[in-house]
Amino acid sequence: MNRRDALTHAFLSDLPFDTDSHPNLVQAVEDIARAVLTVEKNNADFAAARVLRRLVDPDQIVSFRVAWEDANGEVQVNRGWRVQGSQAIGPYKGGLRFHPSVNEDILRFLAFEQCFKNALTGLPLGGAKGGSDFDPTGRSEAEIMRFCQAFMRKLAPFIGPDRDVPAGDINVGPREIGYLFGAWREQAGIYGGALTGKGLSYGGSEMRVEATGFGVVYFTQHALAEQNTSFDGKRVAISGKGNVATHAAIKAIDLGARVVALSDTSGALICEDGLSHDAVQWVQAQKAQGAGIDTPPAAYCATFKPGATPWDTEPDIALPCATQNELDGDMAQTLIDGGCLCLAEGANMPLTDDAATALREADILHIPGKAANAGGVAVSGLEMSQNSHRRFMDADTVDSALQSIMTDIHTRVAEEGRNGDRIDYVTGANIAGYRRLAKAIVAQGIL
Ligand code: NDP
Repeated sequence: MNRRDALTHAFLSDLPFDTDSHPNLVQAVEDIARAVLTVEKNNADFAAARVLRRLVDPDQIVSFRVAWEDANGEVQVNRGWRVQGSQAIGPYKGGLRFHPSVNEDILRFLAFEQCFKNALTGLPLGGAKGGSDFDPTGRSEAEIMRFCQAFMRKLAPFIGPDRDVPAGDINVGPREIGYLFGAWREQAGIYGGALTGKGLSYGGSEMRVEATGFGVVYFTQHALAEQNTSFDGKRVAISGKGNVATHAAIKAIDLGARVVALSDTSGALICEDGLSHDAVQWVQAQKAQGAGIDTPPAAYCATFKPGATPWDTEPDIALPCATQNELDGDMAQTLIDGGCLCLAEGANMPLTDDAATALREADILHIPGKAANAGGVAVSGLEMSQNSHRRFMDADTVDSALQSIMTDIHTRVAEEGRNGDRIDYVTGANIAGYRRLAKAIVAQGIL
């Protein structure tokens, strides 16, 4: 066992939570600990402040019951949470997820990652995550509204424009943000930017919807340029059919790529010639209606393969944009065997440990989510500053700000991760995020 392994081992054996019931959190902590513990050990201030030990323990976890009435007049009961990770560099910031798989482990891992991601943006944003085990599948519009209002009745006392600013995540899009914001505003009795991802007519930002997916592609462009290549003519496989996946697809197509696959939990939509803008917009429309993508119109020359994943299409570039731990070691091996040169994470922690190890050993360019998908929270940060300034930036202005933030993140990550002519993006992103957090935590004393 080398020195770094020993440090990580010692750190992981003294975690302030039950590791058996927090497998996702352990996985995320291990990934970051492996990269940053040597940095912490070699900096007397960081070491004395026990920065990482403090960061694995969130500032606060709010947990609450959400009782609401369904369409049949029956009372439904769900659980809601907000994990407020760190406020050291700005108000807590991170999405809300509504999905039956949501639990404290998932939200703690996401909040922990979010602290590092937000630090990487260079903006004054702390880290948080929240959500509920509510399943919106099959629920009517009125039920969704009632659930959002009941959820916000419990969450409102803990958020606000300078305190904690939630945004969307899985199953929380513009519609849900509208209901959540209305409920917050009514309870708070003021208008303020307490949520981001709002509609353009009431304080939202241009490009927030597109930002995460576009940002993934902007970041990957830089990584490809480092290898003297580009998206042009490349085969790109993307998992998911949601906000991140479809906007990554649109931007990749704009840059001349052939997007050969999108997917959902029931299978993959494959198109050897490359999906068109129209085809991706059809996928977006199907998702918006809660419909499947298994019956593509003939004009799109696409085939739906039930149970398939996008990873056996021999892509040059893989963009997992669906959910955590969606891509395992076998799938990673399929990508490697198919000649994949780069994988960039649109989703948060979409790779299992085995998959990440396989990519590292095969020397495949691997860009972690905290760097690649930071464009979403970055434009949320721009939405917050537009709300504070009572101003509105046009789409071109926001898009060029997003591009320049993604360029800056690439520069920060590359500085920490460069090793000869290769860049270790995983290590670079962890160290760059950690350093910014550590400086702020040390400067503010023991809290
Ligand atoms: P959406 O709810 O818009 O879409 C998620 C999609 O992923 C769903 O359509 C779902 O399919 C599909 N999916 C879930 N699991 C799988 C799987 N195993 N294989 C294939 N498809 C699957 O979510 P977002 O696009 O907003 O978020 C996706 C990921 O990106 C999440 O990890 C999120 O945390 C992350 N992210 C999102 C940001 C944002 O701005 N939205 C910002 C940063 C990160 P089905 O319809 O069948 O359930």
